[in-house]
Amino acid sequence: MIPKKTDVLIVGAGPTGLALAVVLAQSGLRPLIVERADKPQTTSRAAVIHAHTLEVLDAIGVTAPMLAEGRRIEKFALRDRDSLLGLIGFDQLPSTHRYLLMLPQDRTEAILLERLAELGVGVVRGVTFSGLSQTGGEVVAKLETPAGVASVTSRFVVGADGVHSAVRQACGIAFDGAAYPGSFVLADVKLDEAEPRDEVSLFFSPEGLVVLAPLPDGHYRVVATVDVARERPDAACIEALFAARGPTDKPLGKVMEVSWSSRFQLHHRLAASYRKGHVFVIGDAAHAHSPAGGQGMNTGLVDACTLGRILTEVLLGKADERALDQYEALRRPAAADVLALAGRLTTAATLRAPVLRGLRNAAFSVATRLPGVRRRLAMSLSGLSRRNASLS
Ligand SMILES: Cc1cc2nc3c(=O)[nH]c(=O)nc-3n(C[C@H](O)[C@H](O)[C@H](O)COP(=O)(O)OP(=O)(O)OC[C@H]3O[C@@H](n4cnc5c(N)ncnc54)[C@H](O)[C@@H]3O)c2cc1C
Repeated sequence: MIPKKTDVLIVGAGPTGLALAVVLAQSGLRPLIVERADKPQTTSRAAVIHAHTLEVLDAIGVTAPMLAEGRRIEKFALRDRDSLLGLIGFDQLPSTHRYLLMLPQDRTEAILLERLAELGVGVVRGVTFSGLSQTGGEVVAKLETPAGVASVTSRFVVGADGVHSAVRQACGIAFDGAAYPGSFVLADVKLDEAEPRDEVSLFFSPEGLVVLAPLPDGHYRVVATVDVARERPDAACIEALFAARGPTDKPLGKVMEVSWSSRFQLHHRLAASYRKGHVFVIGDAAHAHSPAGGQGMNTGLVDACTLGRILTEVLLGKADERALDQYEALRRPAAADVLALAGRLTTAATLRAPVLRGLRNAAFSVATRLPGVRRRLAMSLSGLSRRNASLS
């Protein structure tokens, strides 16, 4: 049922739209959250939750159930086939969460959805946002519903509608950046292995990168850089990547099952602005980059919680509308920082020239022996170096 008026219309019930709705609902507000898809997604996608995200999500009551289901990993190992280039530990992080949490994205979304239902708000599904106009501090949005076109008037609209955001386009906000050659293979696999691994392992090799990260249910997330990825990489494809890029002394094992696989085309983009009047963009609608470092969904969840707090203050009359400027001021530089981090990691992972690969390996092995460098990398990957760019 679509009301004619609401305080906040959220377009998209991915992780960022759901998190924003929870923040608002916790303060007694009743956002309208609409979603084009008829059912929740059931695929794995973003599987890493970093320490800063867990801190921020604690305030909305979802960190505890996520910790109960997820798998905690305390170290990141950089390897070149059989040799260890360096170890980055999360166990010394200045946080109550001294680890990264592995949890498939469909579970993160299900936990957010359950929390939203507890607060008495449901997602209105099968509804597609198709346009908006703004006048006098109000936004009128056009929604395509199974019963026909509906108009909703709201004080604020938030585009949490992903990388191809119709809200961003309706506001004429440019999505600056470019597509990059190369793509990523992603797969969740079960391996026959002698000894389970309790680290995220990044194997560099002359053929490219392969990453292996343990998931909660005994599966592993495999990520690899390739020139052109197949739409659904299969067991043979993953085993070929292991053979060409993994260790030879303790091979990564035979793939017994592929429970999910996909590919990710590389592009790095940042919205030229995060706000137009009373309309905002969050998550993938505001920034897109390679999955190296597992930062995409994490950055979006912090966007959602930060904007949620600002909108709550304004809607409850505790702050005036000048506070709205804080959102872009805090979160756009944070996304620029994340894009630079993901870009550096992607460049390091995709070097082809043997000389450059040799230099990269030498640089990693020297740098990760320096405690200051290890700490900076752990702070940046965990998001804790961007704590000041959020409200929590
Ligand atoms: C195959 C794949 C693998 C990935 N792997 C990783 C990974 O390993 N690590 C990582 O960090 N990230 C990964 N990502 C990215 C990660 O999934 C995103 O960063 C995250 O989902 C962003 O959340 P979001 O809420 O901003 O957008 P989305 O999750 O894209 O959600 C947007 C929602 O809006 C809805 N919507 C869109 N348009 C409209 C409209 N006009 N009207 C109504 N609803 C609309 C969509 O149906 C969707 O439910 C992956 C993504 C994909 C697709």
